[in-house]
Amino acid sequence: MPRRPDPLETYRQKRDFGVTPEPAPEAVAPAPAGKLRFMVHKHDATRLHYDLRLEVDGVLASWACPKGPSYDPGQKRLAVETEDHPLAYGDFEGRIPDGEYGAGDSIIWDRGTYDTEPPGQMQVQRRKGHLHIVMDGQKLKGGWHLVRTRPQGGKAQWLLFKAKDGTERPDYDVVAERPESVASGRRVTRGPQRQSRLRGVHP
Ligand code: MN
Repeated sequence: MPRRPDPLETYRQKRDFGVTPEPAPEAVAPAPAGKLRFMVHKHDATRLHYDLRLEVDGVLASWACPKGPSYDPGQKRLAVETEDHPLAYGDFEGRIPDGEYGAGDSIIWDRGTYDTEPPGQMQVQRRKGHLHIVMDGQKLKGGWHLVRTRPQGGKAQWLLFKAKDGTERPDYDVVAERPESVASGRRVTRGPQRQSRLRGVHP
C-alpha cells in the first residue's frame, strides 16, 4: 500500500529540535472520537501575528493572521496558510531561540474546541477553500468564515471574518481587550533579538 504523504514533513524540515523548545512531531494520531481542538498562538516573530490552528486528520492545519481574529463581520483579515503542525504544538508556549525559524515569543492566546457548520465537514470545506467554523474557546465564540482567495500553489491566502450568526460584536476589539495567554496569563511578548542590537548599535 502506498504510504500517505507525511503532512508534517515541512514542519520537521524547518526546525532543529536540538535547539528549539518546540515539540518534535509525534506519529500522526488517528481521528479523535471527541471534539476537535483549536488554538490561536500570539507569535511575536519577525512580525507580530496570530497563528490559527485547527485540528484535522491528526495534525493542526495552520494559518498566520497578521491582525488576528475580529468579532466584526466587516473586518476581513488576511490569513496566510502555513505548514501543518503536530498536535503537541497545541501545548507549546515559550521562546523560540534567536536564529531559529520563527524566533520570538509565542503564547497560547486562545484555545478550545470547534466544528464546522454543518458539523463534520472539515476535509470537504478545506478542499473547497471555504471553511465555516464554530469555535468554543475562552475568547473566540461562535462562527467565523475562512475563505481562500488565491488558487493553491505557493502560500495560499485566505480571509478570516466573523459570521453573522448572532455572536458578532462589531464594537469589541478582542485582540486589544484580551492580550493575555489563556495558559499562563502572560501578556508581554518579545520579538527576536536583532543582530544590530547584539552588535551594540542600539543602547
Ligand atoms: Mn507563527
